[in-house]
Amino acid sequence: MRETKSTCPYCGVGCGVIIQSEGDQITGVRGDPAHPANFGRLCTKGSTLHLTASATVTRQTRLLHPLLRERRGDKPVRVDWQAALDTAADRFAQVIRAHGPDAVGFYVSGQLLTEDYYVFNKLAKGLVGTNNIDTNSRLCMSSAVAGYKMTLGADAPPACYDDVNHADCLFIVGSNTAFAHPILFRRIEEAKATRPGTKMIFCDPRRTDTAELADLYLPVQPGTDVMLFHGLLHIMLWEGWTQPDYIAAHTSGFDELKALVRECTPEHVAQVCGIPKEDLFTAARWFATSPATLSLYCQGLNQSANGTAKNAALINLHLATAQVGRPGAGPFSLTGQPNAMGGREVGGLANLLSAHRDLANPQHRAEVAALWGVPSVPEKPGKTAVEMFQAAADGEIRALWIACTNPAQSMPDQATVKRALQRAEFVVVQEAFATTETCDYADLLLPATTWGEKEGTVTNSERRISRVRAAVAAPGSARHDWEIVVDFAQRLEGRLPSPQPSPAGGRGNAPTPALPQRGREQGTETPSPPWGEGGGEGHARRTLFPYATPEAIWLEHRASTRGRDLDITGLTYALLEAAPRQWPFPAGATEGRARLYEDGLFPTPDGKAKFAAVLYEPVAEPRESRYPFSLTTGRLRDQWHGMSRTGTLGRLFGHVPEPVVQLHPQDIQRRGLQEGDLVHVTSKRGSIVLPVQASTEVGLGQAFIAMHWGPSFLSGVSSTGERLAGVNALTTSAYCPTSKQPE
Ligand code: SF4
Repeated sequence: MRETKSTCPYCGVGCGVIIQSEGDQITGVRGDPAHPANFGRLCTKGSTLHLTASATVTRQTRLLHPLLRERRGDKPVRVDWQAALDTAADRFAQVIRAHGPDAVGFYVSGQLLTEDYYVFNKLAKGLVGTNNIDTNSRLCMSSAVAGYKMTLGADAPPACYDDVNHADCLFIVGSNTAFAHPILFRRIEEAKATRPGTKMIFCDPRRTDTAELADLYLPVQPGTDVMLFHGLLHIMLWEGWTQPDYIAAHTSGFDELKALVRECTPEHVAQVCGIPKEDLFTAARWFATSPATLSLYCQGLNQSANGTAKNAALINLHLATAQVGRPGAGPFSLTGQPNAMGGREVGGLANLLSAHRDLANPQHRAEVAALWGVPSVPEKPGKTAVEMFQAAADGEIRALWIACTNPAQSMPDQATVKRALQRAEFVVVQEAFATTETCDYADLLLPATTWGEKEGTVTNSERRISRVRAAVAAPGSARHDWEIVVDFAQRLEGRLPSPQPSPAGGRGNAPTPALPQRGREQGTETPSPPWGEGGGEGHARRTLFPYATPEAIWLEHRASTRGRDLDITGLTYALLEAAPRQWPFPAGATEGRARLYEDGLFPTPDGKAKFAAVLYEPVAEPRESRYPFSLTTGRLRDQWHGMSRTGTLGRLFGHVPEPVVQLHPQDIQRRGLQEGDLVHVTSKRGSIVLPVQASTEVGLGQAFIAMHWGPSFLSGVSSTGERLAGVNALTTSAYCPTSKQPE
């Protein structure tokens, strides 16, 4: 038996795992006692990972060979990699030549490793010349990114897991930590047990399992968080609980915010948010006057048409009370996916560039162009997730490349997403699993490796970079995500006009790239570009994608971080082999930084954090007589995303065996229903049928449906009669104007 250290692929806690394997079979998994995210513990999902990688599951669920569909509706047929990638390169090149680079789009995933993400981003922005690359992380944490940048000046969570053990007050808001980040929740349980004076405030429309530990529960009405945070600041000001010295020395913009929250009286806030006035006072006092207050928050703030404002309004509270930059104090956004942070670091979103650079900044575009050795990076912002599928549904985007994600289940407003997938002329799906709904729409299916089979790095919620390692070989002819991208990119280079090297040239301090001798199957020729530029007979064409290993990609990423807030120029793969490390880790450092802004200096032009005078806006679709419920969606304890992995294990259905809609018992009674009755759950976009379940976790006038069940379990119809599936048949694609994260 071999043992290989790696990282759990499920959530942003980023637990270390030790994979046990024999031959080509993963036989067991245990928590890595040396990993600082989990110290050997695993939750139900992590501890059953090996069972999801068994030979039987692999045979039944995995994509093992490239499959090409001649015509939509046909069964896809097996092809070799050369035919698959040549077809992809031909079709993408045709679309780009005929309609321009913005006629293609890449939709990737927070499940990808940092190295995979990096090459996808470079493919879109450096080679194709479009910023149409976005990610399912847009649905997960883009409001947190925008909130941090708006207030603290950079997209950097200032706290770390260890702060849970130093906090005197924990403010958990919009996060069912007990289910979504179970190992972090164990740490909270321990902190509460070992430091009995630690207060915990839990704020969420649902009284979830996380509330079990709470000393104070605030049952906030859905979408009213900004009003709540402004109301708490109003009380803090009135009671003299703010820190004027800190505000004067380290922040700007407080007067404007102060004027804004004047109207947010406790009476008004209590009425809007549905929280008793005395509880507002208690929460404000605990938050402001505890020696150290740590906020933990997630989709309840992020996944909102007002998501950036929610994040910023919470951070305002930390700045006003100097609850930041000290052990146990700070606003700590939890990431949902295992590598949502890595995607942010490489700029794998439509509005970002490598190493937290902004696409809108001409100097940043020039720096990235110089690093990549291309003349320029396009200026025009790319389409974000919702915009990308809308553009494809409108015929504006004609070719889509989808990697490691399942938009046909996970995107809101499924009717539009399905129209997009049907209308696009060519859809590539790069996936490990053959079972996702999106596979049904693919013209070309490319089998990718997954957990236990691939190498690279991920970054967890506390900015800690961990190695992901392969324990077994890829099944069938599956290939690594980065390899597929590099091979495709090299083929596309031969079919597109060659970008002229930039005057600055160079690729940072990455190793000198080898010319494109590899990446294609043995014995195949490097195709000559039809126009003869930069290549042609007898000349090896210089490639932008010279990588032979994930480490080579990572070194280029590392070079891009020099001098940036996430500088990792002091890190190496060898150091990461020894232990996971937090960023920043600049050259000369011996350790990463556990927490940020301890010196009160923020990465803004004047070195001060900025208060954000953000307005409260109600939810995009308030309750009305025809639609009298507010729906929230969320995770279960034992399932992950669209169930492509966890859904393969019967034992993980023991906790919750089937999809239900949860309503308050009084709402069930008022409608003359019995528990277990099948009900239509209907929004303006569609309708699904589910058994109803009584739950006092859910408030009056509210409904909850878990996000995991897709078409195999949960069918429905759109408002125009199309067949749809899962809870996102109902959800709206209304999004935050700043972060573009949908509600
Ligand atoms: Fe995996 Fe998250 Fe569970 Fe840790 S808490 S074992 S990272 S699913």
